[in-house]
Amino acid sequence: MEFYPGIICPGFVNAHCHSELSYLKGAIAEGCGHGGFAASIAKVRDNFTPEQRTKALLDADSNMWDEGINAVADIVNDNSSFAIKAQSQIEYHSFAEVFGLKTSNIEQCKSLTINPNTTLTPHSVYSVQSNDFAKVCRHSSAPLSIHFKESEAEELLFEGKGSLAEWYSTVGFECDFLHFGSPARRIVESIPAERSVILVHNCFVTQEDIDLIMSHFSAPVYWVLCPRSNRFISGVVPDVVHLLRRNHLNICIGTDSLASNHSLSILEELKCFENIPLEELLRWATFGGAQALGIKPRGVINIDGVDLENMRLTPQTVVKRLV
Ligand SMILES: [Zn+2]
Repeated sequence: MEFYPGIICPGFVNAHCHSELSYLKGAIAEGCGHGGFAASIAKVRDNFTPEQRTKALLDADSNMWDEGINAVADIVNDNSSFAIKAQSQIEYHSFAEVFGLKTSNIEQCKSLTINPNTTLTPHSVYSVQSNDFAKVCRHSSAPLSIHFKESEAEELLFEGKGSLAEWYSTVGFECDFLHFGSPARRIVESIPAERSVILVHNCFVTQEDIDLIMSHFSAPVYWVLCPRSNRFISGVVPDVVHLLRRNHLNICIGTDSLASNHSLSILEELKCFENIPLEELLRWATFGGAQALGIKPRGVINIDGVDLENMRLTPQTVVKRLV
């Protein structure tokens, strides 16, 4: 018998990741905002060799395993991550992300779904035209993982204002979905009620959005928070966690990618939430993500360096994999 100080719990589930962007670790400046972030990626993404990308993916995968992560909801745009995921001890669900307002990548995404555990999802409600959105919803019955209200520009686009609207008009993108009137309305009017959805980021979600979405869906809705990515990209510290908790919603935790984070550590994400009971945080990071992916929690991890008297994480808290 072995004795471990601290807490023992099932392995973590990373409910939102883009492992294939791991090669961008340290390559993108912090705080450049949404438009700036996308532009920075476009600028540097061709500076890396396939070998560098593969090495970065391998490192990300083994670091996640060491950090106590047993399952990952992983967004994919290409084939680069599947060979590594097939060899991994981590259980991956890959979401092939459909987007494109002028030219669509849906056929390429469909070709990715021949890989194990890979299904289509729309990138967001601001980057996919109606026809593709409907095709994705019809393609399977797996959960959809949608970037949702990460920035204020998303809501403003539906009012013809803000930075997204300006960018689209500069480059000549026309949206055929603005008649929905808001991101939340597009969600409920485009996705069947019995389809489970994983909404990612949620920084600017309002009570009205929650009411609308929760009154529509009969299937569970999962709300993923990626606090360190939000801080990295736009300096936003989403206060929305309290709103989600008040509404008793299913909360999950994601890291987003190494393009917008310093590590793929669920424990470090949890440390961003102050004054929330540790049992609740651990539930989000384990059962929450597992339910979203329709899997059972697996693995056993040891969380040490916890303030056990107040049941809070501390800056010194560390995680160690036991099984
Ligand atoms: Zn993302």
